[in-house]
Amino acid sequence: MSHTVYGTPVVHGVSYAPIVWTSRHPLPPTEFTELPPKERAACAAHLEEICRSVGDDLFAQSEQAYGDVSDVLMMTASLATDPSWIAEAQSWIYSGVPAPQAVVRATEKFTEVFRASGGLMLERVADLKDVRDLILAHLAASSGDEASDARVHARKVQAASESPYILCARDLSPSDTAHLNPAHCVGIVTQLGGPTSHTSIIARQLGIPCIVAARRINEIRTGEYVLMDAFVGSVTTGVPENEAREAVERDRRRAEATLRWAPPAHTSDDHPVRLLANIHDLASAKAAARSPLADSIGLFRSEIAFLNAQTEPSIEEQTEFYSSIFQEFQGYSVCVRTLDAGSDKPLAYATIPGEENPALGVRGIRTSGPHPQILQNQLEAIAFAAMRQRETSVSVMAPMVSTAAEAKWFVSSVRQLSERFEVELHAGVMIEVPAAALMIDSIMEHVDFVSIGSNDLTQYTMASDRLSPDLAEYSDPWQPAPLRLIAQVAHAGLTHGVSVSVCGEAAADPLLACVFAGMGVPALSMPRLAIPSVGAQLAQVSLAQCRLAAASVVEAADPGDARYRARTALEVEF
Ligand code: PEP
Ligand code: MG
Repeated sequence: MSHTVYGTPVVHGVSYAPIVWTSRHPLPPTEFTELPPKERAACAAHLEEICRSVGDDLFAQSEQAYGDVSDVLMMTASLATDPSWIAEAQSWIYSGVPAPQAVVRATEKFTEVFRASGGLMLERVADLKDVRDLILAHLAASSGDEASDARVHARKVQAASESPYILCARDLSPSDTAHLNPAHCVGIVTQLGGPTSHTSIIARQLGIPCIVAARRINEIRTGEYVLMDAFVGSVTTGVPENEAREAVERDRRRAEATLRWAPPAHTSDDHPVRLLANIHDLASAKAAARSPLADSIGLFRSEIAFLNAQTEPSIEEQTEFYSSIFQEFQGYSVCVRTLDAGSDKPLAYATIPGEENPALGVRGIRTSGPHPQILQNQLEAIAFAAMRQRETSVSVMAPMVSTAAEAKWFVSSVRQLSERFEVELHAGVMIEVPAAALMIDSIMEHVDFVSIGSNDLTQYTMASDRLSPDLAEYSDPWQPAPLRLIAQVAHAGLTHGVSVSVCGEAAADPLLACVFAGMGVPALSMPRLAIPSVGAQLAQVSLAQCRLAAASVVEAADPGDARYRARTALEVEF
């Protein structure tokens, strides 16, 4: 008998293999016998030695990895060797608490600090718990606990495993995932985790199909064969082997079609869809400019380049920076998103510190309240740079706009600069607050274009923190509620003759891309490497099928139903 559990797919692919469960080191009991005073100094020194050795292991792993995986391991290694964290654990040891319990207490304290800081620090909590568990396992192994010794070595065994398996866990840490060999680990399923968690980032980079937030995956035991469909987000037991192998084969053919795809993107009946790239700094701009996949930029997240700046860069410095980006796209277009400072992207010189609820606080265009000059300076620098690089068509859009008045004010600020510098700047806003989607007709009276930020539009429509690993099912881009808002915005664009694009992660989902095309969205902006799979999927469906999919997803009851309806309308094999 077959049995299916569902989660949120974050890296697409289909796999058939037995499940292997991996577990974290158990926490020590809260009850303990106080350490005799004469043993405390040696115990504190031993703990420090273990922290250093765990840190060294992680540093060594980070040197062998590359890109995001390397960065994540490097950050985890620095947590393991953080002097204030070690000092906190040692101070518990000096007060008589044994090392394992001292490690747990120090972690609890730092977890609270990270949670209070919010934003990106919240994501460090999983890394901190990873460090805690690694240190606990090493502590236990060093005291002769065979089970822990086995756990410390389990990862090496897994790395050496020759036969394919699907790795399951409650949650995975960077150090659990970074060593995985995609030739053998053909899938990852976790009970927790979200689309932006480190498990997802690393799985994406390793190209391993991945499903997160599969709450009921614990119903499936180690050794059971499952068909994992990381397009739908399903893990099914009891599938006859020949059917499962056919599904894997279909996925292989789809991957081949992706490799063969070349721009420009269009549906099978030649309806064009512009596929644009998202960038965030000069390196990503250069990579996009050299790639044949996209010629123009639909979202340049300008704040990311300034995350480490303590003070506002001068207008001259900013002008240099924007000029160097525009220079890469002569003959093409770049859409600059003005600083989206605040919430998960705090900028030292623009973000209000200590906000109770930063995602709902002073972020994006709202920063112009307390800091009116920062936006003006940025716009001036963009206008200067556009003047220098007249071959590049420059658009500017504001994030976090929630009223028509804000849209009108922003657009008129851009138009004034455009006149003053005698340079053409297209002015638009992001639609990522439900209020803006609901007021879209009024907003469209003022703007040249809008771009839908589906990440935040989903976060705010579903009232669920997009970074929270416990809320991944609400952050699912197939949630029908935000999809209805996107359909309304696309419809308004057709009525008012205003260009609409989608630039959140949803645009990178090949089936959702077809849905958006069916809603009448003419352009989609996404991470450069996602473009071929979106282009290949669009090439296989007609505009009529896209329209049918668009009409049916907004009637869906939930994300699973929406996916099912879209696949049926687009005649994608299950
Ligand atoms: C979005 O919200 O979808 C978006 C594109 O902006 P960011 O992810 O940078 O908030
Ligand atoms: Mg956003």
